[in-house]
Amino acid sequence: MSRNGMKITVTVIKADVGGIGGHTRPSDGLLNAVRNVVKPQMAQNGKGLLIDSYIGYCGDDIHIVMTHTRGTDNREIHQLAWRAFESATKVAKNEGLYGAGQDLLKDSFSGNVKGMGPGVAEMTFEERPNEAFTIYAADKTEPGAFNYPFYRMFVDTLSNTGLIVNRSLSSGVMINVMDVEKGKIAQLMMWQDKPTLEAALMYPGRYVISSVHARDNQPILAASTDRLHNIAGKYVGKDDPICIIRTQKDFPATEEVGAAFNNPHLVAGNTRGSHHVPLMPVKLNSPASINYAIPIVSALVFSMHDGKLVGPVDGFASADWDYIRQIAVERTIAIRSQGFVHPATLVPSELEYAEGYRARMNVLWSKMRPISNSKNSQQKQANRPQQANRPQQANRPQQANRPQQANRPQQANRPQQANKPQSSASKTITTSTNETIQKPSKKTRKPRQTKAHPKVEEKKPAPTESK
Ligand code: MG
Ligand code: MG
Repeated sequence: MSRNGMKITVTVIKADVGGIGGHTRPSDGLLNAVRNVVKPQMAQNGKGLLIDSYIGYCGDDIHIVMTHTRGTDNREIHQLAWRAFESATKVAKNEGLYGAGQDLLKDSFSGNVKGMGPGVAEMTFEERPNEAFTIYAADKTEPGAFNYPFYRMFVDTLSNTGLIVNRSLSSGVMINVMDVEKGKIAQLMMWQDKPTLEAALMYPGRYVISSVHARDNQPILAASTDRLHNIAGKYVGKDDPICIIRTQKDFPATEEVGAAFNNPHLVAGNTRGSHHVPLMPVKLNSPASINYAIPIVSALVFSMHDGKLVGPVDGFASADWDYIRQIAVERTIAIRSQGFVHPATLVPSELEYAEGYRARMNVLWSKMRPISNSKNSQQKQANRPQQANRPQQANRPQQANRPQQANRPQQANRPQQANKPQSSASKTITTSTNETIQKPSKKTRKPRQTKAHPKVEEKKPAPTESK
């Protein structure tokens, strides 16, 4: 019995419903609970929802790979996965696992797991005689972590020669980019939209590649793109992504896709979902690292015929990937060496523990007072009316966000600043630490810095001060 010509749907749904001793990996009890719900649905004499299935995990996320003929967004298929994760959640609670049921954000199933916590990637296509695809499952990161390898696969000819020599790929692919904050999507055509795509991919926390199609509309890639913190109204954990990528023939070769993960780039995630750390390729069914929870990705390489799966081959198990893992660890140590200092940590709006951060900052803000004005600075203010028109200036904490500051014409037009009478009216300035510092003499003072570097004079006091 051949299903040739029949459309097959590959659906992969994943969720974190509990880990042993922290966010490490699911217990065997959880995996068995999932299997016990899914396996009875394997087609037997036309009964059951599924043609085939595979269950595994990456870190603390369990993934359920399902093949069937019911199309995408199918209620019964999504409900099957939901029931499996509900069943596993009961086990996780009985076993006292950490984060039991953490990805099941709703009490009852409402037709589709999208928006309910689990991640889903799925696509329907006419099966090729020797269908090949790889599923990439990641943990301790976010969907935008895939942007860079996806770019290397489908846009970067230096990474993928197939983009030059393969007739289908060289004509350019269609890439859908989702704005995960606004919930909108844009279709970008290669090659004409290449710079627009690149602009979007600069910020993987907001713009995420959700699918890729060939020019003839064949689906090549589907990725999970829901962001949990938008679903729940507040941040509840990184939404570890998963994707399906078809390979060979009109699509990138399996190894062209795999090689896109051989340069461990910095992604958002890891401990407390609050840091930038390299994405490390790992073997199938690896627990998360307890070395500050390095973000990980595993590769499940499948063949499929009539919807029946063969595999997975462990894509990142060969010896060469040990070397890539070593690079990832070295880069991890490098970025971790600067501890909490951004960009080792995420920007405040992306921190998983935003409330704790705000609590700390509230203490800081409560201690904030206006900078005390000396006669000199009062006089300066009086002589600089354009300052008075910018009262919000003191409340704008981020110097880095004010690049236009250095270009303000009124600054550039005051090169004679050092010779202004008020500059010599006082010999002292008050630093932010309430120290009184003697100003350097006019002869030794450097030319006035722009406002973008206002502390230069304080940091480099004149030699007279240290005596
Ligand atoms: Mg977890
Ligand atoms: Mg996880």
